Order: sequence, then structure tokens, then C-alpha cells
Amino acid sequence: MKKNSPIKKSRAISREFGLEYLGIEYKLGVDFLDKASIQGRDEKDVERAIERALEHGVSQSFIEKTGGYTGISGILDTGRPGPTIAIRADLDAVPVQESSAEEHEAVKGNYVSEIPGVMHACGHDAHTSILLAVAEWAVRNKEHLVGKYKFIFQPAEEGVRGGLAVANGGIFDDVDEILCFHVGSECKLGEVGICEGGYLATTKLNVSFEGAPAHAGSNPEAGKSALLAACNAATLVAGIPRHSGGLTRVCVGKLEAGESRNVIPAHARMEIETRGATSDLDAFMVDHVKRIVRGTEAAFDVKAKIEKVGSAANLETDPEVLARLAKITEQMESVEKTNFIRFVPASEDCTWLIRRVREHGGKAGYFLFGCNHHGHHRGDFSIQDEKSMPVAFEMLTKYLAERNMSC
Ligand SMILES: [Zn+2]
Repeated sequence: MKKNSPIKKSRAISREFGLEYLGIEYKLGVDFLDKASIQGRDEKDVERAIERALEHGVSQSFIEKTGGYTGISGILDTGRPGPTIAIRADLDAVPVQESSAEEHEAVKGNYVSEIPGVMHACGHDAHTSILLAVAEWAVRNKEHLVGKYKFIFQPAEEGVRGGLAVANGGIFDDVDEILCFHVGSECKLGEVGICEGGYLATTKLNVSFEGAPAHAGSNPEAGKSALLAACNAATLVAGIPRHSGGLTRVCVGKLEAGESRNVIPAHARMEIETRGATSDLDAFMVDHVKRIVRGTEAAFDVKAKIEKVGSAANLETDPEVLARLAKITEQMESVEKTNFIRFVPASEDCTWLIRRVREHGGKAGYFLFGCNHHGHHRGDFSIQDEKSMPVAFEMLTKYLAERNMSC
């Protein structure tokens, strides 16, 4: 995009619809997150992101307010007794190059990502917009509403890094109900998926091995091969037994090792993920991975470091919340079909927020609203904004209206 493209204009306008503009109290960045629970944060990435934000017109004072931590929760208190309801949207983009093909919706609509190699290839920009519109609706209808609302804009869902820090940030302890949602996935345009459960618990681990280098010809016995340690660990990890208690997954997705052909390799690095139908099953897989890494460390006389860089719980929801959502979609003209979904073969870290709410007796719901996408995390991901987004907006606002009327 050129500097004077219409995008600049729309960005300037969009600021006027922010939480501050709406007069909603908010908690931002460090005030909203539990810093100790942040996973997989790379300070160099953060520095680059701050530079990019400044270049794109975000003010220095705003950056300082965030403390370098994105994410925000808007809080609207009607002042009348009633339930506290939280709605969560995720904010982040994906490291994917956006398509420049003529038929791509963002090209047609002139809203292609300005950042090379980064785009909204999972629809989180739509989630953010929908939740902001719901917040605006709540402000406009405040006089007819009761209770309290928390509008949660969560950072770093990709890689399941941000959810735990948001969940532990202290804003869910008084929440009676939480709603989370996602565009696309298993649902096409006109369809809504009410999720009874299904997202898998997962753990993302980075493992590094440090050995000792040596000349491969003259004294190989002095070397300690991190590469062989990592290769052995990779095959052992793939052989972790599966569990009779439910579905499990494990993947060594990346392995980098070695320096040169004639050097005993001193460094190796692996990226591993585990998944399970429950957090216990996921923990079973993680325990095995850790044991294998420790065993390999001893067998190859190398040093290993295991770093947890992301995690999510499995999805658990409550039938009464799901029934309310289903009743709403039955009356919506834009919804042709409502499916009850038991399994989504992926992971989502709003599950930490949901767990936090359910731990003290609160209830949770999760739904998918459809779009005709070509697959998530692809350069041609698009969601037919004007047709898909109103579905989620209507579901959420109807839920809030009906929930408060019934209290
Ligand atoms: Zn997503």
C-alpha cells in the first residue's frame, strides 16, 4: 500500500470507534496481563513491532501506556445488578504473505496487508472489529441493560502464547459467563457451529542440545554430537505410546543442527508440540518428551534445555449457554444451518480464560460462524466480511440482550 492510500483514512476514522472514544473504562497491556504467565515472547520481535507501530502512526505515549504488551479489556458497568459477562476476541495476525491476485477479496476491497509477510490469515481482525462493534452497541443500549460487561481483546493466540497470561491477569474472577468465537474453520457461510467441546489441549516446547565441537577427522572422540542427540530424541518422541484414555498427538516439526561437514556438531534445536483430548492426556505426552530429552542428554553426554513457549487447555463449555446460542441462531435469517460440533482438530488458548471462569462456577460458550474460505493461514484467506461478520455481531448482541432481560 502507498502512503496516501485510503487505508490511512480508514485507520484514522477507526480510532474514533475505540474503547476510549466510546467512554469505556479499560485495562491495557501490562495492567491487563499476568507477565509471569506470558509464553514464547521474543523481545527482538517486540522491538521490531514497536518500531513498525510508530512508523504507522501509533503515538509514543500510547506505546508507553502499553508497556510493550498488547491486549486490552474494556469494562462497561451498567450500575444495575446483573451478571458479569465477558466476550473474548483475539487480535493477532499470521506470518503469511497476502495474495496479490485480482480475485482476492482484500485486493478488490483495497485492504491488503501493508506489512510484507504478515497478514490476517485467520480472521482475527474480523473478531476484533466485531467485538468493538458489540461494545459500541452495549454503550448505546446501556440504559436497557443490567450487569457488567468485559470486552476482552487477547494478544498472541497464534502459537497459543497469550491466553494463559490474560486468564491469570485477574479480570475473570467475577465473570459469570464467557463467550468466545471464531470465523470459518469447520463452518461455511450461512452455517453456525455451536461447540460442545473439541479443541485439543496442547503444549509447545523448544528443546536445545549443546554438545562439544571437535575435528571430525583428527579427534572425533573429543566431540559430543548435539545433532545425533537431537535425531535420536526425535525418533523416540515419535514413538511415545498413545493413550487409551483419548486422542493424543505429537510432532517434532523442526530440527536444526550442526555447523559444517567436518565438525562434530555442537548445537541442535528442535520445535515440538504435543496435543491431547484433555489436559491430562497432553501432560502424559509432555512428561514422555521431557523424559526422552533427559535420557538423551545422559546417553550423548550433552546438555539440554527445554522451554515451554505456548499452551492451551482443551475446550469445555456449558449446555445452558450453548442452548441459548442455538435458540438465537434458529431465529436468524442469515443462519441456514446450526451444527453442534464435538471435535475441532486444532487448539485455541481462550480455553485458559474459559477454565478460569468455570473454576469458580461460571459458564462458557464457544461458537464458529461460517465463511467460504480456502483454508486458514493461507495468503488467499478471506471471509466475505459483510456477510459473515454481521452473523457473529447479531448472535452476541442478542445473547447480551436476552441474557439481561431474563435476569
Ligand atoms: Zn484463529
